[in-house]
Amino acid sequence: MHPLLKKKGFIIDIDGVIGRSVEPIEEGVRGAKRLIEMGKRVVFVSNNSTRSRRILLERLKSFGLEVDESCIVSATHATASFIAKENPEARIFTTGEEGLKEELANAGLKIVDYEEANYLVVGSNRKIDYDLMTKALRCCLRGVRYIATNPDKIFPSENGPTPGTGMIIGALYWMTGRLPDVIVGKPSKVIMLEALEKLNLRPEDVVVVGDQIEVDVLAGKNIGAETLLVLTGVAKEKDIERAEIKPDYVLPSLNSIF
Ligand SMILES: [Mg+2]
Repeated sequence: MHPLLKKKGFIIDIDGVIGRSVEPIEEGVRGAKRLIEMGKRVVFVSNNSTRSRRILLERLKSFGLEVDESCIVSATHATASFIAKENPEARIFTTGEEGLKEELANAGLKIVDYEEANYLVVGSNRKIDYDLMTKALRCCLRGVRYIATNPDKIFPSENGPTPGTGMIIGALYWMTGRLPDVIVGKPSKVIMLEALEKLNLRPEDVVVVGDQIEVDVLAGKNIGAETLLVLTGVAKEKDIERAEIKPDYVLPSLNSIF
């Protein structure tokens, strides 16, 4: 038996482990199903800043994984929970898309125009334009609390790399010299603590599974959990030797744990 099967909980990355955008990764899906059947506590975590939990849930369902919303932590949802705990009265201007706005509203937070905002929430937006960047810039210059959903520079889409949330963070930094006060998504502890809270487990009882060393493995290290790198996504064997951070375990896919 693989030593990681002794753990009580699994925090599993979605993109590159369970699916590639809308396409399932069969070995990943099978592995996750078997873990759930064994009675392991499982939470799926995604840095994606445009999808709400509802959208991710539908995607997992289309892969044949029947789970409920409580098993999903997205950067959108974790951002909303973080702000709701920090300041439930926050007045938020966001660059984000509907998926992010949906989660902010679900957490009871108020979305306002940039002039009234005391929070700037930066998330990806595939329709971002000069007008939206101008508003974000003005929030930033005014010194409002600045939160970013995730630090991803590039998003791997079905047809190749596309700009991630880093496009907006980078532009704001170049214009104002400001970086986000808080970044929620992996490798930040913020999203990982949210996942641990959902599992109701201690880090030593949990495995963090992902396909990127600098993102998932580092996120696991940041909370003191053991890490499993799978080779169904971004990281390849040669990247492991080069990396400064080493995963505790490496397997071809999530199902290889069995
Ligand atoms: Mg991934």
